[in-house]
Amino acid sequence: MRRTVNQLILEYFQNHPKQEVEHGPVVDWITEQWLQEGHETPPRDPWRGIRSLHQKGLLVKARKGVYLYDEDLILQRELEDFSPEQKAEIFARDNYRCVVCGLGQNSGVEIHADHIKPKDKGGKAITENGQTLCAKHNFFKKNHQQTETGKRMFIRLHALAKKDGDVDLENFCREILEVFEQHNINGHIVWKE
Ligand SMILES: [Zn+2]
Repeated sequence: MRRTVNQLILEYFQNHPKQEVEHGPVVDWITEQWLQEGHETPPRDPWRGIRSLHQKGLLVKARKGVYLYDEDLILQRELEDFSPEQKAEIFARDNYRCVVCGLGQNSGVEIHADHIKPKDKGGKAITENGQTLCAKHNFFKKNHQQTETGKRMFIRLHALAKKDGDVDLENFCREILEVFEQHNINGHIVWKE
């Protein structure tokens, strides 16, 4: 059976444990394996696969463009997850409700134990670092930076459209910004018409 790009990447890193790996050698090896397995063209953007394995916590970023595989760190990372007992404690403390919107299991809403200080920023699996969030607010928190970038972009675009007298674009941006406000997303970034 043919291996996927991510399988190949992981295999390469596992064969070079705790070694700092740069772009060149790993991409060369993956491409070679990939073509040997009968693919007609080289794999598309294997470096993207490396970044996604890093996001999943399987690869450690040593510095820009350099990654490594370290099983001890992966185990450490798993320890940073809340145990089922800790989750139960966090949920009970927060009355089984999202600390942002107050919705919870009794309203049929799924709840999550969130790291207040995120794991990848050194946040520990201690109940003091935990809070109950509904699925929606957990998602928003995880994607906070993306939505911030988006909101700032639409604010700029809206101002530009207004200045240029592009009414269609102005209306489009306004409607999107109103959706941000309806859902109380990134309220700290203030938008005024
Ligand atoms: Zn919520």
